[in-house]
Parts: sequence; C-alpha cells; structure tokens
Amino acid sequence: MTLASYAAHPEQSRGRRHAEAAPSYRSEFQRDRDRIIHSAAFRRLEYKTQVFVNHEGDMFRTRLTHSIEVAQIARSVARALALNEDLVEAIALAHDLGHTPFGHAGQDALNDCMREFGGFEHNLQSLRVVDELEERYAGFVGLNLTFETREGILKHCSLTKAKELGELGLRFLHKHQPSLEAQLANLADEVAYNSHDVDDGLRSGLISLEQLNAVELFHAQYAEVLHAHPALAERRAVHETVRRLINRQIVDLVETSRAALNAASPADIDAVRVHSEPLIGFSPEMRRQGLELKRFLREHLYRHFRVTRMTTKAARTVRALFEAFMVEPGLLPPEFAARATTLEHETGKSGRSRAVADYVAGMTDRYAITEYHRLFDPAESS
Ligand code: MG
Repeated sequence: MTLASYAAHPEQSRGRRHAEAAPSYRSEFQRDRDRIIHSAAFRRLEYKTQVFVNHEGDMFRTRLTHSIEVAQIARSVARALALNEDLVEAIALAHDLGHTPFGHAGQDALNDCMREFGGFEHNLQSLRVVDELEERYAGFVGLNLTFETREGILKHCSLTKAKELGELGLRFLHKHQPSLEAQLANLADEVAYNSHDVDDGLRSGLISLEQLNAVELFHAQYAEVLHAHPALAERRAVHETVRRLINRQIVDLVETSRAALNAASPADIDAVRVHSEPLIGFSPEMRRQGLELKRFLREHLYRHFRVTRMTTKAARTVRALFEAFMVEPGLLPPEFAARATTLEHETGKSGRSRAVADYVAGMTDRYAITEYHRLFDPAESS
C-alpha cells in the first residue's frame, strides 16, 4: 500500500534517542509496535480499568481491550487515508501505558498526592514508561522508540513541562501540530471509549436504553436498527447500534479528514506540522453530537452514585499507598526502594515522590487492592 506524501514515512523518521541499526524485516514503526507489545506495562493493561474496577466483571473493557479497539479503529482510518498504519498502531497500543490503577480516579488521586512535587499526568507517565521505566534492553533504558511514536504518545503537555522535554516539547511551545497519525490515534481513542462506554454502561445496568435514546447520535442508529429489524432481541439490537455508532464516526472522520487534506494538500509531514490547525477531525455536526454523547456519559455513567462509590474507594486506596511509601520507603520492594534512594539523592523529597508515584502508577487494580491489604490489614501476610 502506497503512503500519501503527508504520511509519516519511516525512512524520514527523526530517529531514536540512542542510535540503532535499521531493523531487517520490519519498518522502524513496526519495531516500535513490537517493543510496546513485549513490554511489561502493556501486559499490565489487562488488569487496569477505565470506568469499572477490574473485579466487577469479566465482560467490561479493560485498558488492554480498549487499546486494541483504539488501534483497530485508527488502523482502519489510516488505511483509508493512506497514512502509516504501523505508526498509528504503535501510538494506539502505547497511549494508555502510563495510566494508574482505577482509571481517572486513580490518576486524580495520584496527581493530588504529587501536587507539590510537579504533579502526575498519565500522558507524561506513558512517555516516562517507554523512555525510562521499562528495562528490557542491554544498550539503553526504556524502549528507545522513534520520535514519531513518542510524539504521538504525548498528546498534551503544559508549557512548563514542554520546556523540560527538549525536541519533543517544542511543538507545544511553537503551537505546531503532531503527525497526522498522532492526530488520528487521539480521535480513535474518543471513538472507542464513547462507543464502548455506551455498551458497558448498558450491560452494567447503570444507564438505560430509555436514557440513551435522548442522545441524538445513539438514537439515530438505534432507530435505524429497530426499523430494519423490528423483532430483534434487545441485547442484539444494542450491539448492532454500537457497531453502527463506531462506523458512523469512522466514516465521518475519514470523509472530513480527506476533504481537509485535499484542501490543504500538505507536501509532507513537515507541512502537516506547521499547518495552522489539525487536519484530521470530525465534521462540526459529528463533533457536536459526539460532545452530547460525552456529556451524557459524564453525567449519567461516570458520575453515577455506584461509580462514585467505587472511585472514592479507589482514590482512598491510591492516596493511602502513596502516603505509606512516602513516609517509609523501606516498605517498597527492594528495586523500587533503591530507585527511591537514587532519585532522592538527585532531587531530594521530590525524587523520592517520583519513585513512589512510578511504583503506584504501575500497579494494576487488583495489585493495588492486594498491596493495600498487605500494608494495612494486620491479619494479612506482607
Ligand atoms: Mg484511551
């Protein structure tokens, strides 16, 4: 398949932080994807969640299945637009590597704990995982990914942080765009969670079909399904609706982006980067409908009292773990304790806190719960 001139071409990559010989039978971006799949952080995504805590049911999405859905959606769109499928896949599979246990509740709690030490942001943490925390290769720490994959992982970043990030931070300072593949992976993430949270929300019983039918984007697809298949069982009608929901958004994304690319006709990836705005996007109408769905999910699912009960417990668990390790780093497993000592020598208490945050952020939901019991339940073995 021929790549468009404005796609990310592996031979034009800005390269890796540590120079390496070119791979033999793979492109540079395929190598990135493979390194991500073989990482420990990737495997842990299986036991980390988005909305529901891991033990609540085997049917719900985890961060692993979410990341695979994002990759699949991004690859379909990339192929339709002649963009680099390998690069979007690598970015999509890595985009959530830095997530804490317990979804956004965990991230917010850890960010609170880290307030006086520079904060905690899952996006930056994903980058930290691939740049520093994975130790799998003899020649370097981290996965030594290409600039383009790292650029895609870092979706957003404060200006203060951007200044510390060197070449990777420049686009935030100059208000430049990332590659089209990075723009796409970001929107594929939205398509995936908006659609699968509808599905998981309905399955959990926390939201109802009746409520969802007040949302235009959902209602339009659901009405179409019922019209075409009036006798369809409810569960199957929901699946068919979710399928169409994803498809509607993908078709809109492809068509809107194609028109924008044709109009701007950027000569290459550098022209994409200096373009005044992103070139991958939804139509204004789809954006409006997508926002309505997002708002619905926030109000009725993410803030449902039962979800709030879980997230409050989750936040308390993360906070308690962080505080315990901060007060007594001797509670950390030896390799993390050693890291805390090293970082503390470099930057004092903030170094210690970063090592503790790395350890807590790396935990899966169930590991965090087990660790909590080990630390605080006197009857539990440690
Ligand atoms: Mg995501």
